[in-house]
Amino acid sequence: MMAFTHAAAGAASSLLVAQYLHAGPIQTLLVLSGGVAGSYLPDIDHPKSAFGSRVLPLSLPISAIFGHRGITHSLIAVVAMSCLLWWVFQQANWHQGIAVPVLVGIAVGYLSHLLGDWLTNSGVPLLWPSKRRFVSPLKLCTGDFREYVLALLMYGWVAMTAMRIFIK
Ligand SMILES: [Zn+2]
Repeated sequence: MMAFTHAAAGAASSLLVAQYLHAGPIQTLLVLSGGVAGSYLPDIDHPKSAFGSRVLPLSLPISAIFGHRGITHSLIAVVAMSCLLWWVFQQANWHQGIAVPVLVGIAVGYLSHLLGDWLTNSGVPLLWPSKRRFVSPLKLCTGDFREYVLALLMYGWVAMTAMRIFIK
């Protein structure tokens, strides 16, 4: 999937979760920001991706060791990344009122990325280290017109929902 579709999915899914949790406007903004950031993280294993190209000292070794769509595209990575970030936020003395919504957003955005890649024909190794790749019946090709439609629908929903929340 393309980076802007992942960002759309990260925004839409985190906004949905914020709504489900009845988060206030500030918390919603934190969850939403986390969601968009989290949606980029799994592609740290791809040096040419939108995120990977900005963190080459990390993306080059990860891609060399695990390959693209390896460990970073698994459920174990969601848990490990959440624990690591929680530890980092604790070390940085982040107030829980900020750390919790940001972390929830990042985890949701990360999961939305896995879901997005699951929709494509290459699938994702959700249960890494098992090599089995999970692929949805849709089997979208990256850049398929259906991907653009999906992204536009999600951006549209996010824009409408955000207006309702933030502009009263
Ligand atoms: Zn990916």
